[in-house]
Amino acid sequence: MATDWQEIARQIGLAIGQPFVMRGQRAVGGGDINQAFVLDDGTQPYFIKLNSAARLGMFEAELAGLQEIGRAGVIRVPRPLCCGTAGGHSFLVLEYIAFGGPDHNSVIELGRQLAALHRVTAPRFGWYRDNTIGATVQRNDYCTDWIVFWTEQRLRVQLDLLKRHGRSGRLMALGERLLESLHALFAGYTPAPSLLHGDLWGGNYAFDERGQPVIFDPAVYYGDRETDLAMTELFGGFPADFYAAYRDSFPLDEGYVRRRPLYNLYHILNHANLFGGGYAGQAERMMEVLLRG
Ligand code: ADP
Repeated sequence: MATDWQEIARQIGLAIGQPFVMRGQRAVGGGDINQAFVLDDGTQPYFIKLNSAARLGMFEAELAGLQEIGRAGVIRVPRPLCCGTAGGHSFLVLEYIAFGGPDHNSVIELGRQLAALHRVTAPRFGWYRDNTIGATVQRNDYCTDWIVFWTEQRLRVQLDLLKRHGRSGRLMALGERLLESLHALFAGYTPAPSLLHGDLWGGNYAFDERGQPVIFDPAVYYGDRETDLAMTELFGGFPADFYAAYRDSFPLDEGYVRRRPLYNLYHILNHANLFGGGYAGQAERMMEVLLRG
């Protein structure tokens, strides 16, 4: 379906309060789920994500998440302008950020600024709205008990989805046993509801032209900050200076290492739901390790 760029330009104009006369449009690569473009009026470029019209809710949630992190004022995120539908597409318009190379201080700043984000807390776990993790719905109903939140709204949701996708047997049995035994992993540890990025893998941060960190594509909610740290370690890890700077700013509980696979299990189960392949086997192995204690 052809993209109605004129309609998108019209809606950008409404958001910025003056007509946006599109002079150029180019596709940019890199996104997993959406198509990405840069639109230009000759002076001000904007970053546009496109998907099918049915995905508008996903973009509304992303816009709200970027606003939430932006309001904290401690780490740069692209400023969201608007989202909507045009023709058969949904779209999200963000400030375009030219990424540059990091300098010697950039990853240290990333560690410090993420720690500052995690110092922003709410009275309860969850958020005022649901969002998505990859293409999967992520539930964020408010809850005062973190273990209940993680059990019901993170792991059980993914396990139920796997069941609906026809998975049964060993994976489900391990999942049930694990959900009943989570308390042991939390002895003596009471996490606070911290503002989280929620999907902090290596593809969702970069540095701007001044070398300052930028995080994007979040799946925001308030939860245990260890979940963000765990995810940074899931696919290869961030540079060592990042972890040192984070821990200097905001030391981690010594039980983090034991809980890390529990937190990353959520993303591996989600990958099993989205991509199948070897992720279900990986999830089983993680659950076995967790159950051994
Ligand atoms: P998706 O939701 O499809 O995964 P991302 O938000 O991860 O898309 O964006 C895809 C790529 O586009 C990123 O890896 C990044 O390099 C680039 N990008 C994201 N946001 C911006 C922005 N505001 N300005 C410039 N480039 C961006």
